[in-house]
Amino acid sequence: MNIVLMGLPGAGKGTQADKIVEKYEIPHISTGDMFRAAIQEGTELGVKAKSFMDQGALVPDEVTIGIVRERLSKSDCDNGFLLDGFPRTVPQAEALDALLSDMSRKIEHVLNIKVEKDELIARLTGRRICKVCGTSYHLQFNPPKVEGKCDKDGGELYQRADDNPETVTNRLEVNMNQTAPLLSYYDDKGVLTNIDGQKDINDVFKDLDAILQESGQ
Ligand SMILES: [Zn+2]
Repeated sequence: MNIVLMGLPGAGKGTQADKIVEKYEIPHISTGDMFRAAIQEGTELGVKAKSFMDQGALVPDEVTIGIVRERLSKSDCDNGFLLDGFPRTVPQAEALDALLSDMSRKIEHVLNIKVEKDELIARLTGRRICKVCGTSYHLQFNPPKVEGKCDKDGGELYQRADDNPETVTNRLEVNMNQTAPLLSYYDDKGVLTNIDGQKDINDVFKDLDAILQESGQ
C-alpha cells in the first residue's frame, strides 16, 4: 500500500495521516522527518542536504530524491508507506515513479483532501491567542466563552501576523499553483482520488479508508 497524501494547509492532512498509519501500520514519511533522520544518521546525502539547508538554500532534487530512495528502501516500508510533503513537483513525481519502478513498486493511491478555499481561509485565520497566558483558541473549533477574552484570565485575545487573511490567502494561492500540475499528473495516471475534507474528521477518514479497502488490502 504505497500512498501519497496531498492537501492544502488547513485541509487536515496531518490528522488523517495519523489515522491511516495507525490503521494500516505503515510508516508516515514526511519530508521534514526524512531530512532530519538523514542528517542525524550522517549519511552522505544527509550531509549534503544539511550544507544546503545551512545556507538557507533549497535542497536540490537529486539530493532529496536520493534521501527518499534510502528511506523507502528501509524494511519498515516493505508493506507500504504514506508519503506526505513529497513529491511537490512533477519532476519529483517522475523521479519517484522511476525509483519505485527500480524496486518493482509503484504509487497505488494519491489521496487529495479537498477543502474549499474560503473554508481553508476560515480555518487558518481563526486562531486567537491570549496576550496574558498564551492559550490558543479557534473561532470555529475552540471559541472562547466570551468573545475576545481568555477563558482562564480574561486576557485580550490577538491574532498572529502569520494568521492574517492576506498572508494566509497568499500562502494558499502559492500552494494551489504548485500542486495543480502534480494533481493533473496523478489524475492522468488514474491513481488520484479527491476526498471531501469539509466533512467531520471521522467521516473524512471513513471515505479515505473506503478507498484503501477497495484496493483489496
Ligand atoms: Zn489567558
